[in-house]
Amino acid sequence: MNAMHVALPPVREDLRDFAGYRSARSERVSGTIWLDANESAWCSAADEDGSLRRYPEPQPEALTQALSDLYGCEPRQLLVGRGSDEPIDLLVRAFCAASRDAVLVTPPVFGMYAVCARLQGARLVEVPLVDGTGDFRADLDAIAEAALSSGAKLVFLCSPGNPAGGTLAAAGVLALARKLAGLALVVVDEAYVEFADTPSLVPSVTDQPNLAVLRTLSKAHALAAARIGCVIADPGVIAVLRRCQAPYPVPVPSAQRALHALAAASLRQTRERVVRTREERERMREAIADLPGVLRVYPSQTNFLLVRVDDPAVAFGRLLDAGVVVRDMRAMPQLGDALRISLGTPTQNDRLLSALTGSAVTVPALEISS
Ligand SMILES: *Cc1c(COP(=O)(O)O)cnc(C)c1O
Repeated sequence: MNAMHVALPPVREDLRDFAGYRSARSERVSGTIWLDANESAWCSAADEDGSLRRYPEPQPEALTQALSDLYGCEPRQLLVGRGSDEPIDLLVRAFCAASRDAVLVTPPVFGMYAVCARLQGARLVEVPLVDGTGDFRADLDAIAEAALSSGAKLVFLCSPGNPAGGTLAAAGVLALARKLAGLALVVVDEAYVEFADTPSLVPSVTDQPNLAVLRTLSKAHALAAARIGCVIADPGVIAVLRRCQAPYPVPVPSAQRALHALAAASLRQTRERVVRTREERERMREAIADLPGVLRVYPSQTNFLLVRVDDPAVAFGRLLDAGVVVRDMRAMPQLGDALRISLGTPTQNDRLLSALTGSAVTVPALEISS
């Protein structure tokens, strides 16, 4: 065992010698006539550029390289998945034995961690966020204690948080990872980090092998339907997850679109839109806070706002009547009076404001000459 890997949390014991599925394309052979994978000899009428007839690369090399360049890591530290939802599932499967191992989460938080734990039969340990005077905060000492006492194999932290909106201090996360070295993997979900003031933790993965970071093209990069996300972690962890993953997880059309989105011109546009979204976020935060019936708007490092209102049913209904759909958070712990509002275009945001005010939508006045 490599010295650096001593700090890695143990993979499920029953998976130690699990090789996963060996697809035709994972055999290292070469040739000019490929008759090894039972693919069709002809292209489909739906296949305009002939890119769909053959099974895709399991981990498209160009995309892995482009994502690694974007996030600042080595290709061997990165696994491309179907959104970042898939890496969440793979992590739970690879590290948690059913009915024995635990996953730690910090509600109110993104629901997929608990869903994947449930599916795998892993125990769920909850350390709720603390609703302070400013915003929701994770209690990192309580998290460390609960992880140690429950023997959790995975600690999911969401930073910036969905739906809480705030970020965790990097120093605190790294201290937690050091405390849990060799015992648990600390997974930081950075689905919204492009919208935040604080930098990503990706560069820290190299020195802290029990730290993993989730990134996605679904939010700032506007490719939710392409289903491209990734996990960045120690190469040993990446290799284990790859063995647990489906044989051909990345469809060619999705990989092509993702590469397009990672070209310099697209990235420039993405950055401009992030700037506009952040401006809208601050404008909307002040405007919503001033509305009657609004109790609190949380500070946000994301592309949405978490809002507490005195009568959520009325607010939700008013918005629906105006054709504006927001996320009703009332079923979430600590959020019985809350709505989560994604930031739209300035025009859409204005529509939301007038709907919440209860006033009619402003129609530009006609010029009447008298
Ligand atoms: C949206 C979101 C994801 C991203 O999911 P994808 O599968 O990449 O589309 C991951 N984590 C959080 C917290 C999210 O809000």
